[in-house]
Amino acid sequence: MPTPQTTPEADGAARHEAAARFLASLPEPWTPGPIRAHRLAPVLLERLDATGWTLGPKLRAHLTANPQGVRSHGAVLTTRVRDLEPPEGAKAAPPRPACSTCGSTASLVHGTGRCVRCTTSSAAPPASDPAAFAAEVRAALRRTHRAS
Ligand SMILES: [Zn+2]
Repeated sequence: MPTPQTTPEADGAARHEAAARFLASLPEPWTPGPIRAHRLAPVLLERLDATGWTLGPKLRAHLTANPQGVRSHGAVLTTRVRDLEPPEGAKAAPPRPACSTCGSTASLVHGTGRCVRCTTSSAAPPASDPAAFAAEVRAALRRTHRAS
């Protein structure tokens, strides 16, 4: 039997499965169908990384709170996942690091230091002034260090 190897791809797939299973296990009437659960899983994972939430009972309670007056639980669940904020009482999430290529603070692709756009586009539009961008990023980093 071949030994299963842990690759980043397999890791990502496992995380995706875990997130989709978590969503699909939410209590009625919040339970998303399998397709919605799989669509929402990457969004949830991105928010977990950004906010420090973990899959568990607290997140389950947070996502399914106040069902009264909700007409479309699926739509509300999607919005709650997209707008997931750091847990109550948690330290504020650290400021997002800027993309090393374009300086954008959009979600960075894990381990690359570059935003999704720069990672996926083969010909990234060059920054109008890369030196100025780099200086800006360095200044932002210095501010971050001073604040912590
Ligand atoms: Zn970028």
